[in-house]
Amino acid sequence: MNFSFKSMWNYKCPKCRQGDIFKKPLNISKPVAMPDECKYCGLKTMPEPGFYYGGMFLSYIIGGWMALLPTLLLVFYFKWTVNQGMAFAIALVIVTYLPLLRGSRSLWLHLMSKYDPVAEEKAKDKISKENAKVSQEWKPRNKAEI
Ligand SMILES: [Zn+2]
Repeated sequence: MNFSFKSMWNYKCPKCRQGDIFKKPLNISKPVAMPDECKYCGLKTMPEPGFYYGGMFLSYIIGGWMALLPTLLLVFYFKWTVNQGMAFAIALVIVTYLPLLRGSRSLWLHLMSKYDPVAEEKAKDKISKENAKVSQEWKPRNKAEI
């Protein structure tokens, strides 16, 4: 399967591991806005309608355990009251809402797509060409030219 945790964590395209799967910069009213396809390899970010239902289940499972385990530890080991434990769990869920929402989508796309080393090479090529262009555009002029 060749799963890359780093690429998943950084919201990169699972096929070429270079393109972004979420639009940048983050628009807080559309936190899961994705481009239609990867900028570098053309991988579709929405292969079929309802594709991210799976991601929803992942986020439910991960979020549930992530809130439950530390709360149980605090209540039964560190002797917090149940109300304090609940407050902690709610705060944790609020803080991790956005990363979990996007992370589970990214994880689902990574689980469902194949990595392609050739696509990665091509994407790196494109990126280095883009960077070369930018550095040419911004090259300071010689005094002689001015
Ligand atoms: Zn890609």
